[in-house]
Amino acid sequence: MAYELNQKIRDLKPYDPIQGTYQIRLDANESYFNLPESFWNEIDARIHATAFNRYPDPMAREVCAGFASYYGVNPDLVTAWNGSDESISVIMTSFLMRGDKVITLSEDFSMYPFYAFLAEAELVEVQKREDLTIDVENLICTAKETRASMIIFSNPCNPTSLGLKREEVLHLIQSVDALVVLDEAYMDFWDQSLLDRVNEFDNLLILRTCSKALGMAGVRLGFSVANKTLTNAMRAVKSPYNSNVLTQEIGTVIYQHPEMMRQRTEELIASRSVLLQQLRTALQSCGADCTVYESRTNFVYVKTAQAKAIYEYLLENSIAIRYFKTGYLRITAGAPEENQAVVSAIQAFFTKQAKEGN
Ligand SMILES: *Cc1c(COP(=O)(O)O)cnc(C)c1O
Repeated sequence: MAYELNQKIRDLKPYDPIQGTYQIRLDANESYFNLPESFWNEIDARIHATAFNRYPDPMAREVCAGFASYYGVNPDLVTAWNGSDESISVIMTSFLMRGDKVITLSEDFSMYPFYAFLAEAELVEVQKREDLTIDVENLICTAKETRASMIIFSNPCNPTSLGLKREEVLHLIQSVDALVVLDEAYMDFWDQSLLDRVNEFDNLLILRTCSKALGMAGVRLGFSVANKTLTNAMRAVKSPYNSNVLTQEIGTVIYQHPEMMRQRTEELIASRSVLLQQLRTALQSCGADCTVYESRTNFVYVKTAQAKAIYEYLLENSIAIRYFKTGYLRITAGAPEENQAVVSAIQAFFTKQAKEGN
């Protein structure tokens, strides 16, 4: 008898984002700002003072306190993670028992169904409306009918870029027994966060990340915020040293410059607005049959029958964006010249097509 991979993992493929070198990368919703140079001295000093031979603080207290002060929440309700992806994985595998029902929405972040699968939970997928908005009443009904243990969704949503207002999310939380895992990865770009209400509910768990607005995707730093009972449980089930010492030190420095971080967030929002407007104008002038959705995030979501062809044309022109087989494109807002380049390339695509059509 030889060892064989179990049936659950046998056919899995490693996560494989677009590789290769492209001049313009607008495919992963990263910030186009790298770490401010003015932070380097502080980070250097902290790294020099670090005892690398010692384990880091398992509770990551200093960086959690920085996060708490940036968002005005109680630090006792904050847990640090090796990116919010880690928190999703751990929450799924520990808060769910085999066969428990977890509700996800379609379309939403693709990692939820994946981790639910690894947790051996039963997935209940609720469809969004035709216009990609969420039908909260339908969600509540489904949660009750299926006796779901968990509902997880992103707000604002990746990939649709749309947001659900605070009142609607509150209504959902108050109407179900399920644990609501609210992934606010993009909430720095909108003003409908529920962080200030987290302590009022025993079924609300909010996830945040430094990977998007704060421009720290490479550092791997995410946070969960929930009431004391849920926080204790999360701290108990996580691996003790999930947040490494470099991440904790860099994260601490970031939150010591709240003005800079808020200003950059504003610039990302402004870049998104420009990209969205330029795209709408360009597509209209080409007479292209596309929908450019309203956006509460740092990216723009586009519905077009030509999604695949546009995506491939852009790759040929060294521009990477994200393509969805369902007929959508997701374009991250970049620096002004990057936005200009992607809009011009899409325009060129339609011009070329019109010529070939003649
Ligand atoms: C990017 C993203 C994350 C992952 O963030 P990390 O902290 O980099 O793991 C989580 N949720 C959503 C919806 C995202 O788009």
